[in-house]
Amino acid sequence: MTSPNSKAFIIMHSVPLDPSVFSVVLNNLNQQILISNQAGLVLYFNDLFYANAPYPLEIGSSIHDIPFADIMQKEDKEALSLLYKSILVRSSKQFRYDFKCLQKDGNRYWLRLVNTEIEVGNGEYYFLHQIENIENQKQLVARLKQEKEKAEESDRQKSAFLANMSHEIRTPMNTIIGFTKLLAETSDQEEKDQFAEIVQSSGSHLLNLINDIIDISKIEAGFQDMKLLPVNLNDLLGDIKKLYLHDKRLIVKNLQLELESGLPELNATILTDDTRLRQVVSNLVDNAIKFTDKGTIVFGYKLPNETYNDGTPKLLFFVKDSGIGIADEDQKRIFERFQQVNEENKKMGTGLGLSIVNSLIKKLGGDIWVESVLGNGSTFYFTIPYLQKKKMTVPKTQKNSEETPDFQERVILIAEDIATNYQYLEVLLRKTKAQLIWVKNGKDAVKEVLSERQIDLVLMDLRMPIMDGYSATKQIKLIKPKLPIVAVTAFAINGDMEKAFDFGCDEYITKPVMKQELFDKMKLFLGS
Ligand code: ADP
Repeated sequence: MTSPNSKAFIIMHSVPLDPSVFSVVLNNLNQQILISNQAGLVLYFNDLFYANAPYPLEIGSSIHDIPFADIMQKEDKEALSLLYKSILVRSSKQFRYDFKCLQKDGNRYWLRLVNTEIEVGNGEYYFLHQIENIENQKQLVARLKQEKEKAEESDRQKSAFLANMSHEIRTPMNTIIGFTKLLAETSDQEEKDQFAEIVQSSGSHLLNLINDIIDISKIEAGFQDMKLLPVNLNDLLGDIKKLYLHDKRLIVKNLQLELESGLPELNATILTDDTRLRQVVSNLVDNAIKFTDKGTIVFGYKLPNETYNDGTPKLLFFVKDSGIGIADEDQKRIFERFQQVNEENKKMGTGLGLSIVNSLIKKLGGDIWVESVLGNGSTFYFTIPYLQKKKMTVPKTQKNSEETPDFQERVILIAEDIATNYQYLEVLLRKTKAQLIWVKNGKDAVKEVLSERQIDLVLMDLRMPIMDGYSATKQIKLIKPKLPIVAVTAFAINGDMEKAFDFGCDEYITKPVMKQELFDKMKLFLGS
């Protein structure tokens, strides 16, 4: 069956066209066109060819006169000449070849040449040369290839990370399980103390690891918000120094730890994120202690006369050690994830610290770098903006006494589904003489509050079966708005704290619960 248009098509096809129409058509193609004969004489070229040819071009001239050596690479010239020969000896009728070639504007672009042999009668042949500029296409392909390689690399890194993590987590876990068993079996007090210490140190290593992983996932997910509040730098660095002066490694290696505060008390208060800055400096001081066997570690900050592009003055922090140093070629990569100078370091750390520090500093608006000589110590530097609020006073953190508070006659409702977590709280609170009520889900917590029994404070786990801690808190606050509720949770992800407060919690404490922190938070509501 013929289509309704077939007649019209046949008629159009048979209309003799003026040769100049072909020229118009060829000039409107987005390809450079050149036609030559068997002898290599140029018979035709379109406007685009003429506009781009970097050599003089005339009808009747020979394509063999084109200075190929000047416009393309030797290997392309040789490959093309072979391909032409294959056409001349009739082993093929067409070839396609991509190569970089000089064009009239002085740039070299990726071009795609399609060369076709056309028989024009009487044993004569013409050659149709079609050239297309494929520079954008090539760039796109190169970009996609790069992106693909990046994605594959990141995938490889993630798998390596998971494999590494699983090993890293198993090691302290095995120690904890092994030594807890030994602890239960031995009656020798000296051994008991030794085993308990091992369990504790493996436990805190495990916690560091988990914190690092959580930090990384927070940074990756993009919700590591910075809270800029007044922070007294001298107090912050002073706290860190106090903390590390008790560090066993410092004492064993007899290292000196010195602090150089660069500003007087009055000017040392800036707007920054206290937790994140503490995390960054602690991490660098920790590394300095880890990688130094003797000598001194000096850390501190100064206010050099330098500003960021927007005119904000720069604060320069430094952590200088007299340790093993870092070779030039390693100084950049140690800020990347999972990068450690050598395999031995795996025993001492996760290889994640500096990459977290690097991301945090960027979020705080600064830069970080290291200057070091292998075998001769390292100095880590970082900057953050010196954002000062006029007449700002930072309340000194009130140090709470470390005595066990007396909660006799106080009734604490503990909502916690996991028995060992409850037992742990029970042991911590035993000496306070508080009366404890244990419920294992949010629904029972609400029921207890409704029972009219005296309850002075609730310790509320957030993730529980049947009804979670958020909903339970909301309902309890409707019944007894003044009953203090302290959220106790393992959710260390940013945003949980805000969520807990949104649902009505009055305070928040993360697991593993530290005795002093628990007492301090409870004392806020119960007194001591
Ligand atoms: P790690 O948990 O291994 O310490 P980091 O990301 O904190 O991970 O550090 C990465 C690597 O950088 C370390 O394993 C170590 O090789 C090197 N490094 C970091 N700080 C120092 C330092 N102060 N002196 C020498 N090498 C260091």
